Amino acid sequence: MTTEAIAGRVRAGERVGFDEARALYLDAPTHLLGRLADEIRARRHPDRVVTYIIDRNVNYTNVCVARCSFCAFYRPVGSPDGYVLGFDEIFRKIDETIEVGGGQLLLQGGHNPDLPLEWYEDLFRTVKARYPSFRLHALSPPEVVHLARLSRLPVPVVIDRLIGAGLDSLPGGGAEILVDRVRRLLNCYTKATADEWIDVMRHAHRAGLRTTATMMYGSVETPEERLEHLFRLRALQDETHGFTAFIAWSYQPEHTELQGVEATGVDYLRTLATARIVLDNFENLQASWVTQGGKVGQLSLAFGANDMGSVMIEENVVRAAGASYCMDEIEIVANIEDAGFTPQRRNMHYERLGEPIFRQRAIARRFGLDVARADGDTTPAPELANYAPRSRAARQARGAVGPS
Ligand code: SF4
Repeated sequence: MTTEAIAGRVRAGERVGFDEARALYLDAPTHLLGRLADEIRARRHPDRVVTYIIDRNVNYTNVCVARCSFCAFYRPVGSPDGYVLGFDEIFRKIDETIEVGGGQLLLQGGHNPDLPLEWYEDLFRTVKARYPSFRLHALSPPEVVHLARLSRLPVPVVIDRLIGAGLDSLPGGGAEILVDRVRRLLNCYTKATADEWIDVMRHAHRAGLRTTATMMYGSVETPEERLEHLFRLRALQDETHGFTAFIAWSYQPEHTELQGVEATGVDYLRTLATARIVLDNFENLQASWVTQGGKVGQLSLAFGANDMGSVMIEENVVRAAGASYCMDEIEIVANIEDAGFTPQRRNMHYERLGEPIFRQRAIARRFGLDVARADGDTTPAPELANYAPRSRAARQARGAVGPS
């Protein structure tokens, strides 16, 4: 079938199969892919509203045993640069988020063997007791797998316990590319296989949680493997309808073990448009301005995206790999309006919350993203004293074992 014939099927609202998606992705001119994706965006969101959320990406620890080769953020167990945030530091971050109109933390971190499931439960409960309406969008599927292994409990039990403590929704991080050949090459197969990632999401959806889905492309995968990733997401969404949105971002190579070259902006726009065509059961697609910058983020709105993601306030992971874009609410709104759309704040469930906050009250401008901790600050979190250390390094630090 020619790309024009496939385009005709997309325009008629028909579902594309793998070979048709492949033909479009590899052969269709970029303007055609953009036009098709924009038409789908217009059918789904005809009022030309583009949403965004005010929240904060908090990485509660950078200590991680997974050691993914594309990650510039983690520190090995026992590293002098390793940190775990104290509960008080997290409360301060929540207070600052509420001050600028935010209502949610996106809470993710490394796979730290010295943080048991109880630490997460205590944190979530304490947050909910202090801030009852504040939302916790927390723990990507590999973190849930890590907790299941650490606590020797089945994934559904871990999810139920986290929900019982206050978990509201799951971010779709750690998906990278949902193909095990790629995951082995990226050294992220052991943290969670493609099936394990999908399975956590299946259990989360069955337990009533809504989640997002992500894709990190541009490392070692083929175009066909990117498509396989999209088709796996589409199949699970057919089954559970639990995904609220899809977010694609490009691999950021700086300071990583894997190294390499970052994908181009055109590659990003083609990938985003193809995702909009394939993911015909996803309501929302986010623009990834954090990796692409504000202007490509704005262009994303013509390539299928209907959401500008997060105002964010803080970010640590992408910054560690060399990307340092920052937009406060004023700039995000300007980008949306300059592209001819109407901005609306939203929550994680994509319920619209109203006009921009800065048009209702004075908000200090922010020209840089905060970080989890100031460089070199490794003050121990006081709560760690409440949990038995598990790693040799932590036991040594507490004097539980002698130096080796
Ligand atoms: S991507 Fe996540 S799991 Fe992988 S090394 Fe970095 S912090 Fe650890």
